[in-house]
Amino acid sequence: MDLYEYQAKHLFGKHGLPLTAGDVCSDIDGAVAISESIGGPVVVKAQVKTGGRGKAGGVKLAKDPAETREVATAILGMDIKGHTVHKVLVAHAADIAEEYYVSFLLDRANRAFLAMASVEGGVEIEEVAVNNPEALAKIRVDALEGVTPEIAREIAVAAQFEEAIQGQVADILVKLWQVMVAEDATLVEVNPLVLTPSGEVLALDGKVTIDDNAGYRQPEQADFDDSAADDIETRAKAMGLNYVKLEGDVGIVGNGAGLVMSTLDVVAYAGEEFGDIKPANFLDIGGGASAEVMANGLDIVLNDPEVQAVFVNIFGGITSCDAVANGILQAVDQLGERVTKPIVARIDGNNAVEGRAILNKADHEFIELVDTMDAAARRVAELAAARKGA
Ligand code: GDP
Ligand code: MN
Repeated sequence: MDLYEYQAKHLFGKHGLPLTAGDVCSDIDGAVAISESIGGPVVVKAQVKTGGRGKAGGVKLAKDPAETREVATAILGMDIKGHTVHKVLVAHAADIAEEYYVSFLLDRANRAFLAMASVEGGVEIEEVAVNNPEALAKIRVDALEGVTPEIAREIAVAAQFEEAIQGQVADILVKLWQVMVAEDATLVEVNPLVLTPSGEVLALDGKVTIDDNAGYRQPEQADFDDSAADDIETRAKAMGLNYVKLEGDVGIVGNGAGLVMSTLDVVAYAGEEFGDIKPANFLDIGGGASAEVMANGLDIVLNDPEVQAVFVNIFGGITSCDAVANGILQAVDQLGERVTKPIVARIDGNNAVEGRAILNKADHEFIELVDTMDAAARRVAELAAARKGA
């Protein structure tokens, strides 16, 4: 999950990174109040999960609370690359002498982490990487060794930070690495890291991606997730699912786009017989069909109030049907009381016999197994029509 800047800075503050004072709010009066308590010039910053807010007019300076009111009025509610601004961060406006860039990220291809740093910050780092690649230092970080003070200084030197501030930058890198490790992040980025005219180095922007797979040991991070407030498609997207809402009554969960498309067709065809029952969505959970992905998929579909019954249509390939069957059972187990609608499952392909045996044996009250795709489509349409009529 990507965090908002104010959430990223919360984690930065927790690990001792130098920041400007500030707070977040969701209305104009709140912004004015923060501005008053800070005193002096502030920067009002749109909180949206996309970069380039500055260029889009989502980051503005205000010299006093009156101007904060004007600026916050303009920014709250604005649209930045398809993201509506619901919150603003109001922070003390720093004076900037220089803008730098530092980050750590998970480098999957090399099975390591990567430190990136540049004294050419502030702009999009992709631009620096293309136009001025020698200005971007890239240093491999060993996962076990991590970023020691010595390694941090190496990074600062490689990025050509001036000697006078290498110590401050190295200290920041060590703390930023602590954010990475302690918070189970896959990306931590500061752009810009700035030098003030008085020689202080501060993190003015923050971007953090946390690894959702580590959520079980990061209970505090659950508060960061505001996706429940978003619409269902945004939630699905955040879960890495390919979901499209349609106008119908049968929730569809399948693995593979082609299979899901043909499932829509057979359900629409079978549904004609039951008074125009139609598929309620397209949802491709991808090839793996693990319990977690299945649970996410079912959760999304079951949450749609228009869904009367769900069709889980899986073709086992690399992931065999017995694993899929166990995934379905674990998923309904995880969802518990949220499973309130009938689920018709058709599983075929690799190890289909074993998979079906697992589902038959479990004999779950909401799961009904049907062997063929056409028969399953007919049955789910029938169940949906019965519930709709009831
Ligand atoms: P982004 O455009 O989404 O990356 O948002 P940033 O937080 O990086 O802000 C964009 C730009 O606004 C920065 O590169 C700075 O030039 C400017 N900016 C942000 N905060 C401050 C501040 O406290 N003082 C001043 N003077 N400029 C700021
Ligand atoms: Mn930035």
